This record gives sequence, structure tokens and C-alpha cells, in this order.
Amino acid sequence: PATLGMLGGGQLGRFFVLAAHEMGYKVWVLDPDKNSPAGLAADRHLCADYGDFAALDELANSCAAVTTEFENVPAATLEYLAKFLPVRPSADAVGICQNRVAEKMFLRNNGLPHAAFASINSEADLRDTPDELYPGILKVARFGYDGKGQARVKSREEAIAAFQAFHHEPCVLEQMLKLDYEVSVVLARDEHGKTKCFPVAENAHAKGILDISILPARSGTCQQDSAQELAEHLAERLGYIGTLAVEFFVSHGQLYVNEMAPRPHNSGHATVDACVTSQYEQQVRALCGLPLGDARAHSAAVMVNLLGDIWYDATQPGPDSHGAYREPDWSKLLTVPNLKLHLYGKHHARPGRKMGHFTVVDADPVKAHAVAMAARAAIGIQDA
Ligand code: ATP
Ligand code: MG
Ligand code: MG
Repeated sequence: PATLGMLGGGQLGRFFVLAAHEMGYKVWVLDPDKNSPAGLAADRHLCADYGDFAALDELANSCAAVTTEFENVPAATLEYLAKFLPVRPSADAVGICQNRVAEKMFLRNNGLPHAAFASINSEADLRDTPDELYPGILKVARFGYDGKGQARVKSREEAIAAFQAFHHEPCVLEQMLKLDYEVSVVLARDEHGKTKCFPVAENAHAKGILDISILPARSGTCQQDSAQELAEHLAERLGYIGTLAVEFFVSHGQLYVNEMAPRPHNSGHATVDACVTSQYEQQVRALCGLPLGDARAHSAAVMVNLLGDIWYDATQPGPDSHGAYREPDWSKLLTVPNLKLHLYGKHHARPGRKMGHFTVVDADPVKAHAVAMAARAAIGIQDA
């Protein structure tokens, strides 16, 4: 059987490995962490840096095609591999998604709706920013996730202080929008430009981290069509091949693209249990040049992230400030009808670390939501 290469060893890569195995492929994973979830599930784990040429050569010699689950793989690594085998998505597409300045310029140049922003390289750039950007959010251009590398600023003075705290790294300053809610569209696009969109997901965050995702979104269907159309247009402009996620803000009833992820997405986990084809199987299919699957949802679904916080009992003293370490009592979830539990096999829990998730499926979206919220409370997840 053919072997596929995966750059990145997180949970998104792990689900890709499982989907690829179901279709008879072997998978080699490159990730520097010897305990990475995808590395542990893979047929071979190359435990090396993304710039390690010996490891890249080994991957290139053994794999039929390579993909990624992590937007921060250096574009140079993807370019190097592309000399030897298909790399999907391309270095160019990943390069745009991994840098917020390039990402926002791409949105602007392609007529896609976005929050007003300015690209910031110096304190002088900040002094020149227009009033309309305040209150705003200063975001570092590279390596931010789960709300890290972001500061909410009310004035130019606060923005300059935040820029100094970010060591003058290139940033974007974005206008703060009043959010009605947030949605995302995960889609797959094949080498012929054919796309399949999953239903729009509605996402709620807590402390900057995705908390729950509702599939399909509860908002009006008209807007869902426009979100899917915008996401398809965006994928086409990127020349994208693979699974792509587009995050949107909805503000005063208008859609704005927030950011893109050149990979499957946390808000697409529910596609595993609720859709005919999962976002991970679509990634396998697009990578291998196979026809894309049916992205229809056969159930409504609510996905709840399980963060490391619930591995600790804050009321009992522990070795550090988090409290006593203990494995959560999974029977509280496993006994709930229509609930699917997914754990990523990570070796250490930390507060805020994504350790697993569960999905509740039901023909009735209201019931799926109620059951998921009750299960969330039962396992000890506090409301934000
Ligand atoms: P991810 O983990 O999704 O990659 P991230 O660290 O890249 O997150 P963003 O998606 O840019 O961060 O922002 C995180 C969250 O902060 C958003 O989902 C939204 O709730 C809020 N937020 C970010 N930018 C804005 C904005 N311009 N206006 C209002 N809220 C915002
Ligand atoms: Mg992001
Ligand atoms: Mg985001």
C-alpha cells in the first residue's frame, strides 16, 4: 500500500492517520516531539525538526505525497519536499495562512470582507494608525494560536506598550468588532478545483480557545450560503488542494473573514461523527487525487473540547498550583446516549491544553445541544 507523509504530530494529524488507515494507506509522521499523538498512531514516526534534511529526504523517498496538520511548518520545508513529490496544500497557500500580514493582504487584494487592519512593523506605524482601529486587537504576525500573541488595546499608547511587550515583532492591528457570533466553514478542494463544503459550524470560545462547536450553525440559512460561497471563492483564489478551514466573524449581521487554517480544524471534529465523510478523510482523498466524498451531515452535532483543566482537582493540593492530578471519570460521558468520546493520548495534561473532545449527535439539534451541555457540566467543565 502507498505511504502518505504528514508534517506535524498533533491531534489533527492523528485523525488523519486514522482516516488514512481506514482507507488502507500507511502514514509516516514528522514531528520533533517523541510523544506526539499522530506520531504514536503512525506507521513510522520521524522524530526530527521540520528543517532536518535527512528526515525530509527519508520522507520524500518513502511517501507518495505529503500534507500537513500544522500551519507553522516552514514554507521552505514544503518547497523542498515539492521538488520530489506532491505537497498538498502548497507552500504558497500555507505561507499566506501562516502569516497574518500576508493573510490580511490576501483578503484585501481578493475583495474578501475583513475587519479593518494595519500592518505594524514599528512604533511609528502605530502612531500613524487611524482612530477607527481603536479599540482594537494587536496580533503578532506569526505563531499565534488559541488567542496567544494577542493584546486588546483601547488606545495608541496601549498598542505601543503591547508592541513593546511583543519585542517589536511584526504585527497586525485589527479593529475590534462587536461580534454577534462566530462561524467557520471547513471545505475540501481537489486537484481539479472541485470543492465540497461541510455545513457551517457555529463556534463559541472561552479564554481565546474554542469551547464548543455547533453543526450546523443555528443562524439563518441565507448567511450560511454566503459563508460557504466566500470560503469556496477564497479556496479558489489560494489555488488550494486539501482540507481548508475559514473562520468568520458575524458582526451586525455581516460576515467578515477572521483567519484561515490550511488544514483540518478543531471546529470540524464533529464531521467525524456527523458527516458522511470526515474532514480528515477528505484530506486523504484530496492528497491522493481521489474523488472527494459527500460532505453532508446525517445528524446535527455539538462538539465540546476537553481541556487539561479537568484533569486537576483544584480543591485538593497538588505538586503545583493546578491542584491534584487525576484522570477524569469518563463513565460520566460514556453512559450518555448519542455521545462519542475522543481522547488524543497526550502524555501530560496542562490547563488549556486540548486533550480530547466529545461529540453529541442527534436528529434534533436542540436536543443535541441540551445533552452536550449537561454532559459538559457533569464532567466538571466550568462555564467561562
Ligand atoms: P486559533 O486558535 O483559532 O488559531 P488565534 O490565536 O489565531 O486562534 P484569532 O482567531 O485571531 O486567534 O482570535 C481568537 C478569538 O479572539 C476569535 O475567535 C474571537 O473570539 C476574538 N477576536 C479576534 N479578533 C477579533 C476582532 N477583530 N474583533 C472581535 N473579536 C476578535
Ligand atoms: Mg489562528
Ligand atoms: Mg482563530
